Amino acid sequence: MSRWSACEFAFLKLAVAFMFAGMFIYPLAAQNSPTATSSKQVTLTYMGTAGWEITDGNTVILLDPYLSRIYGPQPPGRAPFARAAGDNRPQYGWTDVAVPDTAVIDSHIKKADFVLVTHTHYDHVLDVPHIALKTHATVIGTESTENVVRAYHVPEEQLITVRGGEDYDFGIFSLKVIPSLHSPLDHKHYFSSATAPAGMKAPLTLEQMHPEGGTLAYLIRFHGHQILAFGGMNYIEREIEGLTPDAVLVGAASSRKEIYDYAGRLLRDLHFPALVLPTHWDNFTAPYGASQQPAIDALQSFVQEVTASSPNSRVIVPKYFEPISLDLPSR
Ligand SMILES: [Zn+2]
Ligand SMILES: [Zn+2]
Repeated sequence: MSRWSACEFAFLKLAVAFMFAGMFIYPLAAQNSPTATSSKQVTLTYMGTAGWEITDGNTVILLDPYLSRIYGPQPPGRAPFARAAGDNRPQYGWTDVAVPDTAVIDSHIKKADFVLVTHTHYDHVLDVPHIALKTHATVIGTESTENVVRAYHVPEEQLITVRGGEDYDFGIFSLKVIPSLHSPLDHKHYFSSATAPAGMKAPLTLEQMHPEGGTLAYLIRFHGHQILAFGGMNYIEREIEGLTPDAVLVGAASSRKEIYDYAGRLLRDLHFPALVLPTHWDNFTAPYGASQQPAIDALQSFVQEVTASSPNSRVIVPKYFEPISLDLPSR
């Protein structure tokens, strides 16, 4: 009996060729799926504090949107920010109820599809209930964050509770939820294992919306881009090893200096991302019009740390409400 006809042999060769091609092409396709490269421009717009808008002009993803910028209590161990000249707004303490500045929020946020929250602190979560009720956006965050949002009667179907480790496909983008750590405030003495409980009723005091409830980071895969977003000055190294974002939002306030080789370890683990955007570096108790010059001056050491550890990364110090395109011309 003949072993292989010419035809069978040709078929076999073809099958082997497909198998090999599949081995190499499939993983690449899978990595980018479902956000394969497209002509859509993705922009990132800084809204102050740890707040960003990420959009392709259609789908709007907000991260830690906090536009009220109340003159509120300080993080532990930090001297109060000097009051901005001409700032006559009320001063809030922990036991006060702070009302979001809906005029400012509504002037900047017209639409949102998703709101991602890194942790339950008032400078990350105060505005989220108003934004969720206004835009009907899906709010993604810890159980603690969702309990704050629930207190304001945001419908349950808008809430996706995560704990870190999830990797969810939303069609137009996908989202890897990454366990992380809070900034080491108060010279590493900051610690909170508190969580906002279920069953709270609005309005909440600042204390009630400030238990941390654990901290997350997010990897957003969107139109072929990968954006890694942090909401503060820390990370868990093993959770980010192997990620290859092209843009990373890096917490850049001074508490980063408590951390061993903060920028170096981060940028090496991420394989030297093309774009680094400092976040959570401004004086978030000052209104938008106030000078941020002292914070911008302090940020220069962060820029130098990035440049020293990852010379080919581009660092852009964002200006409020000025979109940054991810489709930057190559250098
Ligand atoms: Zn915080
Ligand atoms: Zn914060």
